[in-house]
Amino acid sequence: MTTQSLSELRGPFDVLVVGGGITGAGVARDAARRGLNVLLVEQSDLASGTSSRSSKLVHGGLRYLEQGELSLVFEAVAERRVLLDIAPHLVRPLPFLLPVFSDSRRGMFTINIGMWLYDGLSLFRSPKLHKSLSRKRVRAAEPDLRHDGLKGAQVYYDCATDDARLTLETVLDAVRYGATVLTHTRVERWLTENGRVTGCALKDQLTDEEVEVSCTVAVNATGPWSDTVRGDGDAVSDPRMRPTKGVHIVVNASRLKLSHAVCCMHPDDGRVFFTIPWGDQTYIGTTDTDFEGDPGHVYADLSDVDYLLKATNDYFPGQDITHEDVISTWAGVRPLVGDEEAENESSVSREHSLVREPNGVVTIAGGKLTTYRKMAEEVVDLVVTELDAKGTSVDGLQASETETDPLPGAVGWPERGGKKQIVSAVQDFSEGLINKVTAKHLVSVLGMRAIDLAERVAADPDAAAPLVQGRPEILGQVDWAVSVELARTVTDVMMRRTQLYYRDDEQGIAAVQVVAGRMANHLGWSEDEAAAQAAAYLEEVERSRRWRSELTD
Ligand code: FAD
Repeated sequence: MTTQSLSELRGPFDVLVVGGGITGAGVARDAARRGLNVLLVEQSDLASGTSSRSSKLVHGGLRYLEQGELSLVFEAVAERRVLLDIAPHLVRPLPFLLPVFSDSRRGMFTINIGMWLYDGLSLFRSPKLHKSLSRKRVRAAEPDLRHDGLKGAQVYYDCATDDARLTLETVLDAVRYGATVLTHTRVERWLTENGRVTGCALKDQLTDEEVEVSCTVAVNATGPWSDTVRGDGDAVSDPRMRPTKGVHIVVNASRLKLSHAVCCMHPDDGRVFFTIPWGDQTYIGTTDTDFEGDPGHVYADLSDVDYLLKATNDYFPGQDITHEDVISTWAGVRPLVGDEEAENESSVSREHSLVREPNGVVTIAGGKLTTYRKMAEEVVDLVVTELDAKGTSVDGLQASETETDPLPGAVGWPERGGKKQIVSAVQDFSEGLINKVTAKHLVSVLGMRAIDLAERVAADPDAAAPLVQGRPEILGQVDWAVSVELARTVTDVMMRRTQLYYRDDEQGIAAVQVVAGRMANHLGWSEDEAAAQAAAYLEEVERSRRWRSELTD
């Protein structure tokens, strides 16, 4: 069940999960599937924090291999396999090219050994085994890559995903198993009895409605906010987070056309960054700098953009990518668990920490998008122990089977090579109103659920209209986002249900009024409310372009 009115909320809940990023989503899914009564509360939109601002890779992480974090790599490549199975529409194999130059830190031979280790840690079940390419074959594969000093390359396989949609579908599965989900609702403070948390006070950020709700166990899954939530809004004396900021920039693929993700080292500091093909776009990232401040207000600065452009032009010198080529950016805060020993930001561990606080709250922080499912399993095991200790019967709980059961868009997904038939089915179910390009787009974001959307379009032909001329996103996606995918604001739709904010040359500005109008019909907004919603999105776009104003200062 989902509810948008706090007055309809029925507690008490077995588990209150605070934070609707991938971590909270995973915990809610696992707990609901075991049969627990779950409430998930997110202060903004699902995945609006770090979980829509990652590098969008489901990967073991070659960097962690280099740092000797073998257990982390082992777990991550195992989870990569699981996610490929349970979300094949969202998690796709991606070839990575790791070029070797005459001045590279490591030569072809050493890297090849590392690649064997990487394949071995996945028990040779990576999407494909790595291979070595000669200089000539690298030049054929990626003609724009610098060839001065090029010796050859290794090609290996990891996966790419849509991080926001992976989070969303995880939540939708939790809802399917009975979880209650509140978005744009903040946990304002804990309710306690004898120093133990018994619930929390909630406030809907869009309606100002407030309510108190009780729970047996509370989970703090607020990523970079976790110290703030631990401290109930006040600073804690023992902060665990060492947050770092990571920025990505997006350019059109016509300016940087790639057939592999290319793994590069920054010429200034030797840090690894990627240039990643993304359909008609390419994104480049990431930076890694210490961060202080509100994780909800993090944007690219000019220095971040320049850092990424410098490295890109070093690797692709003929392309001459400039500030004008950058169509959008995103910045996220890594919820890294502090490590006083770490020499610099990039060497802070990506492992997670799971702590039962003195007030009984279970705090989960750190980790990676890739390992969220496994991390959630560990959290819910601890939650069950806590419930048991508090006298809640846990005897009838089920196995959660999150490892094998598909996410909603993957239910019925064909074993191999059947995507073409689904694309045709989408066109057929829409009675020809959806063209092939849009059908492909819908299948890649919704999986099998694209067929349900196509049926809606057949019933309401206006819904087939494109949101921006020449682009594949359609009006029907707005209806779908509101009625099925828990979207409540124009920004939710523009940024995370569609990716117009990132992918359109004008960040979807041409579609904003139409989106606001359509949402107003569904959500009963007045004209003023719709206008305020559109304005809020435009302000968000402006903030993301702030780095441009530094160019003229
Ligand atoms: P978040 O996604 O930040 O979720 C926490 C949520 O809690 C937020 O949505 C916030 O709004 C909510 N919240 C906070 N306070 C409250 C409150 N009082 N009430 C209600 N809700 C509240 N991992 C990978 O596996 N692959 C990658 O390629 C990768 N790349 C990355 C690149 C960058 C630049 C960054 C920053 C991270 C990357 N990661 C990657 C790591 C991964 O993205 C994070 O580990 C993961 O997204 C963290 O999820 P989370 O749910 O813990 O935090």
